[in-house]
Amino acid sequence: MKPDAAMTRMIEQVRRGGVSDERVLASIERVPREMFVAGPFRPRAYENATLPIGYHQTISAPVVVGLMTQALNVTDRMKVLEVGTGSGYQTAVLALLCRRLYTIERHKALFRDGEKRLEKLGITNVTALLADGSGGWPEQAPFERIMVTAAALDVPPVLLDQLAVGGVMLLPIGTGKEDQRLTRVVRTAEGAETEDLGGVRFVPLVPDLAKG
Ligand code: SAH
Repeated sequence: MKPDAAMTRMIEQVRRGGVSDERVLASIERVPREMFVAGPFRPRAYENATLPIGYHQTISAPVVVGLMTQALNVTDRMKVLEVGTGSGYQTAVLALLCRRLYTIERHKALFRDGEKRLEKLGITNVTALLADGSGGWPEQAPFERIMVTAAALDVPPVLLDQLAVGGVMLLPIGTGKEDQRLTRVVRTAEGAETEDLGGVRFVPLVPDLAKG
């Protein structure tokens, strides 16, 4: 299948999966997913599937990226923090929708490759950091939106602190692969309100920089 046809089919699947926000769909359509998967998986880049990106990490399925981006409800006036750059695919989709995106990855090789891809795509509103993202990015806080694409045991208080009042954080919460819940957290003046958006499967949020 030609890339154009494969992309059209992928967008159709994302739409059928529940993504109706046209801005989100347009953003996904602008990002060539084949740039974000490793060589052997490139022929499958437009499948609605989770694929390996090396180092035991994965790029989320397009429908998950679409649903999470939609649930975050980002506008072009917002400053956003992403924890878990991975391939940089979700980063690219978010960057096209927000004013400025700060993204943190703990794995050096992924961090480097991700940055290169964003540069190649001409995306200039992203600042990437090689660090343990569970500490957030205090110098740049507060953020109107935070997306964590690795599973935490609970809402990290440090990240909640860096969320603006009225801001939204989206993160998978759970211990094992089987029992993670995608959770939306809205910061209020008094604390936070959480909402369960359904079951998901992410790699775990791991402390410290990766070795090697
Ligand atoms: N959104 C990514 C996929 C994320 S996979 C994509 O579109 O490709 C989860 C990523 O989170 C992995 O790359 C992993 O290395 C990273 N990660 C896990 N714990 C982290 C932490 N504490 N700080 C920063 N990155 C972390």
